[in-house]
Amino acid sequence: MDFSFTEEQEFFRSQVKDVVDRMIRPKTQEIDESNKFPRDLWNEFAALGYLGLRHPEEYGGLDMDVITSMVFYEEMARGSCGFCMAVTMQILMGTYFVGRFGSEEIKQRVLVPAIKGEKIGTICFTEDQSGSDLAGTRTTAVQKDGGWVLNGRKMWITNGPICDFCTVLAQTNPGSRMEGLSFFLVEKGTPGFSTGQDLNKLGSRGSITGELIFDNVFVPDENLLGDGPGNGVKYTTDILNEVRVMTGLNACAIADEAIKDAGRYANERVAFGKPISKFQLIRSKFAKHWAWHEAARLFCYEAAWMIQEGKPCGSEAMLSKMFATEMCMSAVDEASRIYGGNSFAMEYSQQRFLRDARFLLFGGGCHEVLQNALGAAYLRKI
Ligand SMILES: Cc1cc2nc3c(=O)[nH]c(=O)nc-3n(C[C@H](O)[C@H](O)[C@H](O)COP(=O)(O)OP(=O)(O)OC[C@H]3O[C@@H](n4cnc5c(N)ncnc54)[C@H](O)[C@@H]3O)c2cc1C
Repeated sequence: MDFSFTEEQEFFRSQVKDVVDRMIRPKTQEIDESNKFPRDLWNEFAALGYLGLRHPEEYGGLDMDVITSMVFYEEMARGSCGFCMAVTMQILMGTYFVGRFGSEEIKQRVLVPAIKGEKIGTICFTEDQSGSDLAGTRTTAVQKDGGWVLNGRKMWITNGPICDFCTVLAQTNPGSRMEGLSFFLVEKGTPGFSTGQDLNKLGSRGSITGELIFDNVFVPDENLLGDGPGNGVKYTTDILNEVRVMTGLNACAIADEAIKDAGRYANERVAFGKPISKFQLIRSKFAKHWAWHEAARLFCYEAAWMIQEGKPCGSEAMLSKMFATEMCMSAVDEASRIYGGNSFAMEYSQQRFLRDARFLLFGGGCHEVLQNALGAAYLRKI
């Protein structure tokens, strides 16, 4: 067993940390308050090459391994959760299907500019009436004259209102539920494709989230991504493991930031004649979250290692995401208690940690749904 990062990974972490400290953190509050997508920051960031973290070098990517990419996601969440969401959408779900299944022509037209940050991508699963229940997808794709005609609406789409292309989950065989689902590439400017409402979100602000509308949108056959039709859901498994572990490490970073910030506050804030950090009940919160944070982080990196080694790890990815996110919920709650009334003041970061952390409960799967699958998996294996 070896629990250490390589020298290259440590060096990469220090580079990303430096970028986050210099470029993102000075703008964190402004991004959160304005809820505007920081396009200038995006362009500067794209120039560093990070948007191609997991894509091959021949398309302009960095072709990084899974564990090193997790180091990146962990450090990114220390800056702005909203900006981190926009960036990680571009790196993972937003470009994954195009990178894996797109024709060479699609890769040159869509993936190469996406890696340069010139085009913004996203993934569209969720609809108004169906989030966890993908089989409830009502967006349809009907085969016609060398292509497919898409009709439907997608909701809660990260980067949606500003996207140049999207990967859309649609039903190709109504009545067949999961077995009829497929992914299609739709690009901005295609007749019938438009954006609906932007959503004013509680947290992760600065990533623009909203509705996308498909009204008789025709796409050619090559825009059906993957063998199909009907194989969409099976392809999500590999990338969902990465998304879940990434979400867990985002949670670890937010928890760590919140608890450290509360620690500095506890050393300064005086009550009953001494710093509140001298009280045992306050100290116990740090001890507990030190342990939980270490455990969650180790679990996430273990799951990342399993992905990298090609080991089956669907359960480990879900477990580590769920554990890290629940740990984060507890950490941001306890950290805000340490701040007392000041946790309510918008000038301190604690209120933002509380709001941002809540998205992680849904991203990569709601915990109630994950527990259904995990409980069944556990009972099968004992
Ligand atoms: C900020 C943000 C960004 C997002 N970005 C994207 C995006 O880019 N693309 C995209 O496609 N989606 C996106 N989503 C949507 C997200 O994926 C969904 O919110 C998530 O899948 C949950 O679906 P839902 O909100 O419809 O909740 P529902 O599925 O309606 O669930 C509601 C509640 O019921 C519970 N529940 C549901 N089914 C079961 C069950 N079988 N057993 C027990 N409990 C159950 C859930 O756990 C939850 O507590 C985003 C959401 C947010 C908040």
